[in-house]
Amino acid sequence: MTDITAVRWDDELIEKYNINGPRYTSYPTAVQFEALSEETVTGVMTQAQAETGPMSLYVHLPFCEHICFYCACMKVGTKDKSKADVYLDAIELEAAKRSPFFKHRQVDQLHFGGGTPTFLTDVQMSRLLTILKTHFTWNASGEYSIEIDPRTTSNEMLTFLRDNGFNRISLGIQDFNEETQKSVNRLQSLEMVTDLMNHARALEFDSISFDLIYGLPHQNEARFLETLDKVIALSPDRLSVYNYAHLPERFKPQRRIVTDTLPALDEKIRMLKSTIETLQNAGYVYIGMDHFAKPTDGLTKALQDGSLQRNFQGYSTHGDLDMLALGVSSISHIQGAFMQNDAVLSQYEEKVMNDQFFTARGFHLSQDDKIRQKLIRELSCAGEVLFSDYEKEYGINFADYFAYGLEQMRLQEQDELVELTDNSIKVLPQGRLLLRIICMAFDAYLEPGKTTQKFSKII
Ligand code: SF4
Repeated sequence: MTDITAVRWDDELIEKYNINGPRYTSYPTAVQFEALSEETVTGVMTQAQAETGPMSLYVHLPFCEHICFYCACMKVGTKDKSKADVYLDAIELEAAKRSPFFKHRQVDQLHFGGGTPTFLTDVQMSRLLTILKTHFTWNASGEYSIEIDPRTTSNEMLTFLRDNGFNRISLGIQDFNEETQKSVNRLQSLEMVTDLMNHARALEFDSISFDLIYGLPHQNEARFLETLDKVIALSPDRLSVYNYAHLPERFKPQRRIVTDTLPALDEKIRMLKSTIETLQNAGYVYIGMDHFAKPTDGLTKALQDGSLQRNFQGYSTHGDLDMLALGVSSISHIQGAFMQNDAVLSQYEEKVMNDQFFTARGFHLSQDDKIRQKLIRELSCAGEVLFSDYEKEYGINFADYFAYGLEQMRLQEQDELVELTDNSIKVLPQGRLLLRIICMAFDAYLEPGKTTQKFSKII
């Protein structure tokens, strides 16, 4: 039996398949989003109202005191804390508007993302939690997580978050090398992070996650290994190691990065290879696209028992729940539809305050989208697909329906990325590093002649 956690690096295959492609945090990807009518959104909300199962809640908090030059997130640079008061007024109105559709359902998972959620003062954070607890129903043993910027998070704030039910934190680390930190405008010392980690451990958070980025200015394999040694010594439960995609024409802050200082592709490939080896040697399990976790962490257990999910935050143990997302630019995924709020702060606030329609775009999935969404999720999370499941659930003949995808699988089988039988596709250890390529074969929006230039390189 293939070990689901096994992964095998092959230089030739990595070179062969290193093309542009989606990360599949959603299917269809956000590139396909289009205008949605108010009736469609109301229809989806009404459908959600008829459900009784648990749900997930996301709040986007866009403010950042300093702008990191590599950033591709929706954020607003400011030091003016009063802007968050106005924003929370809008969040309160949005929560009140959505509440009648969701209040009867229990919130099993909450995530604060950004921007910098810890930009909020204690008073503002407290107000936000009161808003959410007023308009939604809390599960006292749910999974509550928040993205932490070590530069703006005091030990007191961490204690406050723990006291208020947060049990998971994710720290933006990126790299400990000072030259790299300076060149991306994100200075945070090892001492600062160590102090915060010690405090977080004392508070007994269930899971502490680190985000790292490879491909930043002045990085090379040796330097990144030094960062990894420091990271391993700090012993986070989970790690996300992202590939920096330099797209200065799309993301303005990236124009301040000097292109000549970026590592070349072969260096990036060496960095990724050493990262995987080093983290595995330190006992971490490769979960899939960018993610690693300790064997004891919930993500590893979910990978092993087949319950792993994927959503906009990456791999998750609750990705299959309806997710209501509040705030500027945030994307809800409810009852087979994606709905993204207005992505311009002033417009989002103005529309919400004036009770106007604030969904900017989204996607209502067709039956074909739903079938492919399930398939792509199973390939990237469980690493195995049984054709008979789809034939039973959707009344299709799998071989006919996915003729193009299976043709691609036969080619990938020759490279030992997958194992193909009459009734199954199984991802093999060297395919686990190329999950995006395997999933792309079933993406209806990428079939021959369709461009992938809008996506980043796989490595
Ligand atoms: S990376 Fe995070 S902290 Fe830095 S500018 Fe972007 S959102 Fe703000």
